[in-house]
Amino acid sequence: MEARFSRATSHLLLTHSHTDHCFAMEVFKDTTIVASKKCTGKIKQYIRDLEKPGYRERLATYFKDDPERADAIRTLQLVEPNISVKREHTIGPEGQELLFRVTGGHSPDSANIYSPSERTLCAGDNLLAWYAQVIGNGTRMMEVWREWENLDIDYVIPGHGDVVGKPYITKVRHYFDELLAALQKLKAQQFPLEDVLQHPSLPEYFGKRSQHWIEGGRYHQHQIDLAIKSFYRRVR
Ligand SMILES: [Zn+2]
Ligand SMILES: [Zn+2]
Repeated sequence: MEARFSRATSHLLLTHSHTDHCFAMEVFKDTTIVASKKCTGKIKQYIRDLEKPGYRERLATYFKDDPERADAIRTLQLVEPNISVKREHTIGPEGQELLFRVTGGHSPDSANIYSPSERTLCAGDNLLAWYAQVIGNGTRMMEVWREWENLDIDYVIPGHGDVVGKPYITKVRHYFDELLAALQKLKAQQFPLEDVLQHPSLPEYFGKRSQHWIEGGRYHQHQIDLAIKSFYRRVR
């Protein structure tokens, strides 16, 4: 990236502390690292854990189906972020600001980055384009999607998958609106949680028709099933 743009990287902006989003951060240790307060807390905990005897090996075993990641875990070094953000932090010169916003949702420490001048949103895992959505606090995620729908956005960089446009946010939010309406009706009838996944009134997740869904079918289906159950537990 530095070779391509002939300039040094100034910042690393972490959207959250899940391992697939921060375990390669040592590459950026010479930059200003920005994270939410909760994300910094998690990284400090990881730094302490990684020093404990046997911890790395146990973690590597957990990823035994992914040898590249397991190998990386044996040597990786995490770095404590320089800036920890409670709600919002502005980066860059006037007119080209990046807004780093802590929202929670996918995880309690989730943040996203919005560039008004580039009309670009970096969503973190609060929006995924390849997979089913990975729901943490579903109600909060729906609020975040609605907030995004009110921003001027041309490009959305999801936590996983290809760059999408703003209509994709609406598509995802719309699916969960329909899902929630269906689940509310079932809850009113006290329909059992064990059978809810099979109920014909549930809307079909649009992602199921995409190529990526078919390639990793079981994993995606598992995530969407978890999402449905998590929403069903919460609805009144
Ligand atoms: Zn994540
Ligand atoms: Zn992720």
